Amino acid sequence: MCRGSEISQILKFLHDFQDSFYEVKEIPQEEAPEDSRFLEIALKEALKAKHTGEVPVGALLVINEQIISRAHNHVEARRDPTAHAELMVIKESLRKTGKKYLSGAILYVTLEPCLMCFKAASLARIHKIVFMLHSDEGFTNYPVKSAYPRQITKITGNLSETYEKILKDFFEKLRQKQRQ
Ligand SMILES: [Zn+2]
Repeated sequence: MCRGSEISQILKFLHDFQDSFYEVKEIPQEEAPEDSRFLEIALKEALKAKHTGEVPVGALLVINEQIISRAHNHVEARRDPTAHAELMVIKESLRKTGKKYLSGAILYVTLEPCLMCFKAASLARIHKIVFMLHSDEGFTNYPVKSAYPRQITKITGNLSETYEKILKDFFEKLRQKQRQ
């Protein structure tokens, strides 16, 4: 039997737990023309990845509306399971700006980042992450709330539907290859 105080402790725990997940703001692409423009470039990067047999994920980092760097997955090419598009743009942007933190930066990425890339973005004090599709491996599945990033946005609409098809098609072909 639970006593009243135990129940309220459990409720507090559940509330805190729920509160430790990031809130994702969903915006239709028509209402976010600038974000959509940058996501289109990220999608082009994702297609480059697809053509070289990489999981189609593309990313770019923007500060004051300027693209600092852009990249796609290089896991296969570099034989490095950590060579994710997001990690590559974060490292390249730090190198290019010569700064320790990427204050005010927006990380655009086609797919929701994994925990590793999320942590890197958080450590680099990236202001905002914008993506198009949720991932089963994505950071929003975990209780990871921290000071950075300040905002998480998911852009919905045609662009995201196009990307979903590209991703599905890629994994379908990969499964076919594995069956052969
Ligand atoms: Zn990642």
